[in-house]
Amino acid sequence: MVYYCKRKEREETLVIEVKNITKKYGNFVAVDDISFKINDGEIVGLLGPNGAGKSTTMNIITGFIEQTEGQVIVNGYDTIKKSKMAKGQIGYMPEGVPLYGELTVKEFITYMAELRKIKKKEKKQKVQKIMEQTGLNTMQNKLIQNLSRGQKQRVSLAGALVGNPKVLILDEPTVGLDPKQITEIRSLIKELGKNHTVILSSHILSEVSQICDKVIIINKGKIVAEDTPDNLERIVAENNIIYVTVEDNENKIESIKEKIKEIKEIKLIMQNEDKTKKYEIIGNKDVDLRKSIFTEFAKEGITIFEMKKPEATLEDAFMKIIGEGGKK
Ligand code: ADP
Ligand code: MG
Repeated sequence: MVYYCKRKEREETLVIEVKNITKKYGNFVAVDDISFKINDGEIVGLLGPNGAGKSTTMNIITGFIEQTEGQVIVNGYDTIKKSKMAKGQIGYMPEGVPLYGELTVKEFITYMAELRKIKKKEKKQKVQKIMEQTGLNTMQNKLIQNLSRGQKQRVSLAGALVGNPKVLILDEPTVGLDPKQITEIRSLIKELGKNHTVILSSHILSEVSQICDKVIIINKGKIVAEDTPDNLERIVAENNIIYVTVEDNENKIESIKEKIKEIKEIKLIMQNEDKTKKYEIIGNKDVDLRKSIFTEFAKEGITIFEMKKPEATLEDAFMKIIGEGGKK
């Protein structure tokens, strides 16, 4: 398997191991026999539509709720048998914005430091450092209730960072934010990913593909796919299509199909006013036709004005995988 990400080059240490967890509410199965592993330093996205079981899975890993069956090990600690130690490894940012609106930013983070039992003499300095890290120092004395949604989200993230936990679990970190705030939170998460293992959830595909090294797609309580964003996109690239716009007055394109064996089909899709033509070229799976198109077209005297390979999106992958999962 090809991993594009540099993190993989360093030694892999298992940080989270989710083993066959199931969560039932009465007869309803919210999480259905889910297993996955997360290595040190990875940023992993739990992706799935509303109600898929993302928050439930995260709440089980953090030890906030107990699974009906299965086991979760966080940095070597069983979340049930060694719950205190396991919880100590995790900083958790729950869904939605933080409560405690009547506290100032600094008061809230200090309060979190007290809950985390940070030593008194280190407390002030650590709170300060977290406020710097999350870009909150300029508003440290503001009441949380008076902050924007994006700022509140950063306060919540700051709360998760207290005690410098090995693992950060962020439930829908960008929900309800405007595009600028999303960009800010995203780069903050990426930055934090350098020193923490991060699990975040989202129902937005572009979100996880931009931040995460690995994506776990959940639907109806089950894992339907687990891969890099790149590979997931490749799943949908069933048809290997290239679009070319050419000037080919002598219609030499007819002979191209014989010349490039990997081409399955050439379709004319547009005849432009300037006499250029746009073709759709369909190739066999797993070959990049661009190079041979370029050389062979040149040999035939066909001038290429534009060549384009449409990108499959994670959205396509998601719909396809969920569709297939649904049929099972
Ligand atoms: P997601 O975070 O992916 O949107 P959740 O994990 O919150 O999904 O929920 C998964 C499913 O479990 C949903 O159908 C939800 O209604 C159900 N669920 C969650 N919590 C409870 C609960 N306390 N009691 C009953 N059903 C619940
Ligand atoms: Mg949720």
